Amino acid sequence: MDVLNRAEDIGEEIVLSIDGLSKRYYKTKKTTFALKDISFRVRQGEIVGLLGANGAGKTTIIKCLTGLVKYDSGEITLNSFKIPEQQKHALNDVAIVLEGNRNLYWRLTVMENIRYFLSLRKMGKPDEKSIDEMLKRVSLHNDKHTLVEKLSRGMQQKLNIAIALLCKAKLIILDEPTLGLDIIANHEIVKLLQEIKLQENSILVASHDMSLIESIVDRVVLIKNGGMLVDTDVKSLRQLFTSTAYRMCVENKHNTTLQRIIDDIKSKYGSIVIDGTNENMWQFIINIYDKSSRENAIELMSYFLANDIDIEKFERETPDFQHIVSRLLSRELES
Ligand code: ATP
Repeated sequence: MDVLNRAEDIGEEIVLSIDGLSKRYYKTKKTTFALKDISFRVRQGEIVGLLGANGAGKTTIIKCLTGLVKYDSGEITLNSFKIPEQQKHALNDVAIVLEGNRNLYWRLTVMENIRYFLSLRKMGKPDEKSIDEMLKRVSLHNDKHTLVEKLSRGMQQKLNIAIALLCKAKLIILDEPTLGLDIIANHEIVKLLQEIKLQENSILVASHDMSLIESIVDRVVLIKNGGMLVDTDVKSLRQLFTSTAYRMCVENKHNTTLQRIIDDIKSKYGSIVIDGTNENMWQFIINIYDKSSRENAIELMSYFLANDIDIEKFERETPDFQHIVSRLLSRELES
């Protein structure tokens, strides 16, 4: 891990603990190191986002911790039980919603699916009132007797999450919960997960959907090429980037000078994104990559003033999550 250090565990109940997890896939003549020394925790009530580019190893982590594939070395403890040795007990309090539509029985109705999955948990006779309330909450109460194959993708995903909640799973594992959903269904899933955030369930969610990640997670675990890149809380991540990005608005009176200055800044400080120009103003975001960003900010202002360009606005920029993650993945930030 070279960007941020793992935060200390703060003594809350650890629901999932992964230590030094490594996994290779063997194909004829080729070995893929899918995971290399991955370690992180999920605490009770915590929502952890598992992020990384395609092929980074997110699904392999989920498969290892749910016992779907065997790992080579390391240790996974889930609900205080070891995986794979005590897998059956470990997975008792876990709900897994895998990518795509593989989680439900398509030829069964909504209610039949719910009853089936609750019976697997040996939760006794299903409490019809709680089921009704849950179906209302996810707006599926009018589809109780609809076959799952007739539901839209978003409705199926809501049913998956509703079942996970009805099972009172301590940990809900979601692999790409919003993949392929339209904007309305996406919004509904985000809203549902935000509501869960207020409850006690822990969630581990792997996703490329940055708006989902941004709106629900407490911690981010970023994987690159199978190795750990970042494990930190969202607040620290934002703070780190807030102090390295500035939004500037300057007077547009010397167009050629301004263009020269911008080219200079690019080569000296990092990247610069022109955010909008009109006949009076230039607005841009400057990303400063080295540690002494404060000194650089002052230097930067002096630079404009020395070139007789008036600064109308100079403020710290709060970059969005997409920007933060893509910068971390492209390793633009020095440790
Ligand atoms: P995506 O975001 O595209 O779903 P991911 O982060 O989930 O990607 P994984 O599916 O875990 O990534 O894959 C990690 C690496 O392991 C990749 O290089 C992938 O090609 C390789 N891999 C995954 N499954 C297998 C397999 N069954 N056999 C061989 N290699 C595999």
